[in-house]
Amino acid sequence: MRKNQINTADYLRGQDFHIKKKYGQNFLTDMNILPRIVEESDVTKDDTVLEIGPGTGNLTVLLADAAKKVIAVEIDKELIPILRVTIFPRENVEINNLDIMKTDLSDLLSGVEGNIRVVANLPYYITTPVITKLLEESHFFKSITVMVQKEVAERLAAEPGSKEYGAITLFSQYYSVPKILFSVPKESFYPMPKVESAIVRFDILEKPPYDVKNSALMFDLIRAAFNERRKTLANAISDAGNLNFSKADVLDVLEKMRLSPTIRGERLSLEEFANLSDMLGSN
Ligand code: SAM
Repeated sequence: MRKNQINTADYLRGQDFHIKKKYGQNFLTDMNILPRIVEESDVTKDDTVLEIGPGTGNLTVLLADAAKKVIAVEIDKELIPILRVTIFPRENVEINNLDIMKTDLSDLLSGVEGNIRVVANLPYYITTPVITKLLEESHFFKSITVMVQKEVAERLAAEPGSKEYGAITLFSQYYSVPKILFSVPKESFYPMPKVESAIVRFDILEKPPYDVKNSALMFDLIRAAFNERRKTLANAISDAGNLNFSKADVLDVLEKMRLSPTIRGERLSLEEFANLSDMLGSN
């Protein structure tokens, strides 16, 4: 074991707990990284933290010491008694044995006063759906600080035209200012994952950066563009089964926007997708 590591392997053996790969259980054991996550998430004693997947509680105890309260959501019922031992004697941690994807956040967070910040070392098998859910319901949150696969972090902070640029990039820019904070090596976890990781922080915007008349239409256009990345934008949109625009409609708007008729969606910024959506929607 490396220096400054929590011995989670021995702890779990002592509790007769077997790691469940299907739940993405890679526990963060590196005491060089754990306090840094709490620091960079800006949690204060006035804040409530929503922690997704507290696991054995390595991060939970640090969050509980920094925050007013931690609301933890863990799917694996076998981890609940272990978590209770780790957090003892703290009384400001509420443990919920739930699947975050099936949890109604307004029920879970009802009655919370003050800012809520999400802090989590996310299970990698559901990174994108969890981030999508949190961003869609980001009116609850001040910030979201999460550990993700490095490759996902790069997609979140990608520039138009790069191969990492995609629907999730635009989605996160609509709700937040996303920023990659630092990388985390595989050796910081037990068991060691196959890929490198990174911490990303989303500062939630009070209102979207561009006024768009119909955000659902804009996201349908974005999804159509990136589902068929190799097609021109005009073909991708007019071929999409759930959209009702002809190729001529799209070409007409592209011309008004002074964009090339053969442009691909991956070249457009969020502002351009917002304009495209408003113009197509009002035709
Ligand atoms: N926070 C701990 C740490 O940093 O050591 C554990 C992180 S581990 C990468 C992911 C955790 O999420 C595991 O404890 C796993 O059981 C839990 N988990 C997996 N799927 C979940 C879900 N759908 N809802 C809630 N928790 C989940």
